[in-house]
Amino acid sequence: MPVCIICGQMFKENKQGLFINGHYICPECENGVVALSADDPGYNFYKMGLKKIWCFSNA
Ligand SMILES: [Zn+2]
Repeated sequence: MPVCIICGQMFKENKQGLFINGHYICPECENGVVALSADDPGYNFYKMGLKKIWCFSNA
């Protein structure tokens, strides 16, 4: 089972979410990323999660 690359939450079939290059992002984090602005307290948290995807993609 895939887990959210940002928060580690397990994929739930009834909740869907987002897959980027085979990496799962849960709906909560997906919404969080979409709503982010640079001065948001959660910005770095999500940015770090997304960075993991970019790192894997570029590897
Ligand atoms: Zn998540």
